[in-house]
Parts: sequence; structure tokens; C-alpha cells
Amino acid sequence: MVKLSETAIEILKARYLRPGETPQELFERVARAVSEAELLYGPASQAARWEEEFLKVMENLEFLPNSPTLMNAGTPLGQLAACFVLPVEDSIEEIFASVSLMAKIQKTGGGTGFSFSRLRPKGDTVKSTNGKASGPVSFMKVFNCATDAIKQGGKRRGANMGVLSVNHPDVKEFITCKTDGKSFQNFNISVACTDDFFQKALKGGEIELINPRDGKVWSRVKADELLDLIAESAWKTGDPGILYIDEINRHNPTPALGRIEATNPCGEVPLLPYEECNLGSINLSKIVEKGRINWEKLERLVKVAVRFLDCVIDVNRYPHPEIEKMAKGNRKIGLGVMGWAELLIELEIPYDSEEAVELAERLMGFINRKAFEASAELAKQKGSFPNIDKSVYRGKTLRNATRTSIAPTGTISMIAGTTPSIEPLFAVGYVKRVLGGRRVPFIEPLLMKKVKELSLQQLKEILESGTLQRAEGIPEKIKRIFKTAHEIAPEWHLKIQAAFQKHTDNAVSKTVNLPKSATPEDIKEIFITGYKLKLKGVTVFREGSKEGVVEFKVDQE
Ligand code: ADP
Repeated sequence: MVKLSETAIEILKARYLRPGETPQELFERVARAVSEAELLYGPASQAARWEEEFLKVMENLEFLPNSPTLMNAGTPLGQLAACFVLPVEDSIEEIFASVSLMAKIQKTGGGTGFSFSRLRPKGDTVKSTNGKASGPVSFMKVFNCATDAIKQGGKRRGANMGVLSVNHPDVKEFITCKTDGKSFQNFNISVACTDDFFQKALKGGEIELINPRDGKVWSRVKADELLDLIAESAWKTGDPGILYIDEINRHNPTPALGRIEATNPCGEVPLLPYEECNLGSINLSKIVEKGRINWEKLERLVKVAVRFLDCVIDVNRYPHPEIEKMAKGNRKIGLGVMGWAELLIELEIPYDSEEAVELAERLMGFINRKAFEASAELAKQKGSFPNIDKSVYRGKTLRNATRTSIAPTGTISMIAGTTPSIEPLFAVGYVKRVLGGRRVPFIEPLLMKKVKELSLQQLKEILESGTLQRAEGIPEKIKRIFKTAHEIAPEWHLKIQAAFQKHTDNAVSKTVNLPKSATPEDIKEIFITGYKLKLKGVTVFREGSKEGVVEFKVDQE
């Protein structure tokens, strides 16, 4: 039987449980629906065996699939993937077809990413009407409004990624489209930056802004100035992020099928138009036993997880025939992790240390290798992905064009009761406002496990600041391993991200947290470092730069 925290039960009740369903029944429903895929390849006994395995890893909170799988498996909706990229072509009909498909996907809890780079720039000619084009940013508003309308009745709030090439004539308007702090609330935005752009930003030089409609140079701009503008906007609001688009395409497993231009909303899956990916994450806090990592257990979990995610492709209900064709042609899956910070705390390794970076490489290297082996093994039983001969794996036997991805695990980590993804702790204590305006103090249980008790004064200081740094009488060693996101220097956020990225097929969704005092120049440096570290994308978040973030204040009453 599954044992869940109160918070987890609340989350499941709000959106995930079907009428009258218990959490245990939810996991049973998911295990049954997903294992039905096995019936396509073997006897019922095989499906039954995997149903049991799938149920066990979910019940133990050792592995959880992404939210749409938990919500929709075994239900009439049946759409199980979290990530989609849809094409946006340069005609009114195609733009609105894309809006319509986006609506259909968001209704089921899936997130959508778009490249708007193919749309002709603002002021360009429209032949059929003799009018002037309104440009990508104005069409993004249509997508944003549609998401607003759908979120009322949908499974969750709806999330989009909007990408524009750094060489698009409207790039400046795009970079600043969220700086008023109000517009495009349903979008994360990213600028697709090329190697050429970074080379020129570093050495000095201009890039060409090109009209995608005719391929002609529209104007030129200094690369350095553009990077400054990106950094300044990101300093103000966190948007845009950067996609290192050439690095992404160096790792595109199916270049013959097209160039990757966009990612899903949180950036962990670069995809071709009409591609989707279903995700799942292993709970790393469950592989620590008596202060050590149980590698055999981890290997077992990877195998079950890869099989699970591959089965999802077969039982999924696709929102569009083209999406089904791409999903079944490439069979991309994204296995990731959650609970990295918890694992480090258990092992008493500071997040900002070389030891953590080395372990990240070793651990993700292991997961990536075992996932590859599991996918190759599956291919022997069920066949390679149909596009394999058009892929970089030509001549090999492999079931999935990609195997790994590091997702944010925003909700599933709360269900599993661990720290999200590969992020450090956000706070070790805070005052939570609950329904009715009551304020409830929260202290990180992992901290209580290590310190056993806190004095009233220590408690007050932790709740006030969210950190241990001002609390007297706490051993240095404990302070070191409980550093929170804002106390960890940006370079360590990046180093950990790079260590995971090195062994992840898709991308890593990670936020580089910055103190309020950080400058646009600091952010520019981070974007350049991300390029040098061969990341696929970077997002920054400066404290206080966005509304709705928890503030650490003690109730004085
Ligand atoms: P979860 O923990 O709910 O499974 P994650 O936080 O790991 O989800 O996010 C994984 C992906 O799911 C995101 O990159 C995005 O594509 C999609 N997603 C997340 N939140 C939403 C949302 N509110 N609406 C639509 N899609 C979402």
C-alpha cells in the first residue's frame, strides 16, 4: 500500500483522483493501463508480471511518471505525455491550426512548445491582402489568450514555451515582450542562440537578422548588444532564457527528419515539430541505504522505468495523427531523477562541492548507460524504433531515440515527498499561509532528522530568513549541507547542471538562482558560461524579480 504525506494526498485529490478513487487505486489504474501495452508483444502473463512491477515502483514512490500519465491513464482522455512541440508555419490557416491543436493538448494537461521563427516579421508584406504582417509576438498573444481560456476547464494551468531565433528581425521585440511583468503569463520564452552569435558576442561582431519568408537580410545588429538586452530582460523578470540551439542539434538523434527549433515548456526536451515525449523520474532519496548508494537497486529501477515509459507510447491516445506518427516513429522517452538534494543531504555532501559534481556525473552516467542497455534489450524483444535507419543509431538495435531527460518534477516530487529534480532546497523553513489566512510554520523535515531539536531562537531565525546562516549554535557542517538555492553561487548551479547534462540525451530543466543584488552583467556571464559548458539551455531567476514567490516572514502575532 502506498504511504503518502498530507500534502501529497491534497494534490492527488485536487486534480489526479477520479471520482471515488483512492490514491492506491490511482496507482493500480495506471499500472494496469500502462502494462496493457505488453499484450501487443506477449502473453497475458507477461502483462500481468509487468503490471505488478509497475505498481510496486510507484507504490514505493521509487519511480513516478509525469502528471498526465497519473491523471489520464485508463481514462477516456487517455493522453499521457507531458511535452509537445507544435509547428507554426507562416500562414493564418496554419497558425490557427496550431492554436487549435494546442488547446486540445492543454485540455489533457500536456505542455506545448513552439518556434515562432518561421513567421514573417512585423511590417513585412502580406500578398493576399496587400496588408502588413503583424509579426510573431502579436501572434503569440493569440496562443496566450487561448491558454487563458482553456485553463478554466483543463487539467492544469497550461504552460507554453515560445522560441524565437536570435536571427529573426523581431528578436528585440520578442526579448522584451515580458518585461512589463504582465504580458504572456502563460509562456516561458527562450531565444534560440547559435554558436555564431556567441562567438560574435565574445569577440565583437554583427549578426544578420533574416526574413524567414524570403531568406533576405533585413538588418544587422551587434551580437554583444543583443546579449546585453537578453541579460537585462532576464534580470528584470527571469525571461527570456537561452537555448543553445547548435548544441541541441549536435545531439539531435534524427537529423534526417529535420532540425530542432524548440523545446517543451520547461526546456528539458528539445523536439521536432509534432514530436512529443513522456517523462518519468526516479526518486533518488530511495536509493540511499545506510549512508550509501544501492547501485543494484538503481539499475533495477532504471530497467522498470524504461520499460514503463516505452509502454506508455503504445497505450497513449494521441491528439493528432501526425503526433502519433512521430511518437511511434522515434519512440522518445525521458527518464530523469528527483530527490537529488535529499540524496546529497543523506550522504552529507554539500550541493556546492566538487564531490557533488563528481557524484552527479557518476550517477547520471550510470543511469544513462543502464537506460541505453535497457532500451537495447527492449529492442530485441519488441523491435527497434522504426526511424532507426534515419537516425544516428543506424545499424544498432535500440528501442528509443532518446532515453533520458531531467524534468522539473514540480508536482510529482511533492507526491513522492522529496526535493524536486536536481534542485537544491529552496528554504529550510518558512511560514505558510493556509486557507482562511492562518499562518503555519514549516521546518524542513530533513533538517530535523539531522539536528534533532531547535531552540526557539533558532526556530525564529530560520523562519525569518528561510536559511540556517544566521541561526547560532548550528554546527558548520550542518550549515554547509543545508545551503539553499539562493545561497549557492551560480557557478555551482551551472556545474551541477553541466554534470547531469553530460549524461542526459535530452536536456536538463534547471534554474540558476540569483540573489536580488545580482546585476545584468552577472546574468550575461552565466549565459556565456552555459555556452562554454555545453549546456542546452539556461534559465535564471533573480530573487524578487517575479511576483508570487514565497516570502520568508514570521508571523509576529
Ligand atoms: P510533473 O511533476 O507534474 O509531472 P514537471 O514539473 O516535471 O511535471 O514538468 C514536466 C513537463 O510537463 C513540463 O516541462 C511541461 O512540458 C509539462 N507541464 C508542467 N506543468 C504544466 C502545466 N501546468 N500545464 C501544462 N504542461 C505542464
